[in-house]
Amino acid sequence: MTISIKKQLCNVMKDMYNKQFISLYDGNVSFYKGGSNSFYITQGSVKKNNLNSNHIIDVPFSKSLDTIPNISRESLFHKLIICQHRELNHLQDVVVLHSHPIYTTSFMGLERNKCQLNMLYHYFPELKQRVHIGKNVSHTCLPGTLSLAEDISKNILNHDMVGLENHGIVCVGESVEEVWDKTQIIEYHAKMFGVQN
Ligand SMILES: [Zn+2]
Repeated sequence: MTISIKKQLCNVMKDMYNKQFISLYDGNVSFYKGGSNSFYITQGSVKKNNLNSNHIIDVPFSKSLDTIPNISRESLFHKLIICQHRELNHLQDVVVLHSHPIYTTSFMGLERNKCQLNMLYHYFPELKQRVHIGKNVSHTCLPGTLSLAEDISKNILNHDMVGLENHGIVCVGESVEEVWDKTQIIEYHAKMFGVQN
């Protein structure tokens, strides 16, 4: 039996909460069904351990985000990434997963010693085959702003993940399973680096 996409989106957020990839109100996931005129995204400001299908919002591309009730302020970068992929191949499904994983975010440096997330390749070269990591997005781009959304979509182009300094990561792929796998792989390796320091 295939699980409905809304259920998959709720499940991945619950999984992320249970595995400490997000705190209670953090993170979001979006899904674009190839060929459609809208995308799904998790509602903002809801407890992620308690999501159900009613918390998944259907966002038409034709509507301005600020006219949609209960939408997360982080929806802007989801929309830009989805539109970018849609321009390349509008029939391809797109999933964008945003999380705040502890070791990965810490690896990029919270105060000083800022470090590109793709420096993980230096310690774990086999990761290069698994996840294509773009350039970090600076912490000077504040959450919810257009400049943050534009930098994320620019840096993730031709990659499948970018790090957001002092914030978290964004991963893009073709299925919920793919982006969740990649997010967990990166956190696992960042943890190996973190625990030996
Ligand atoms: Zn965030």
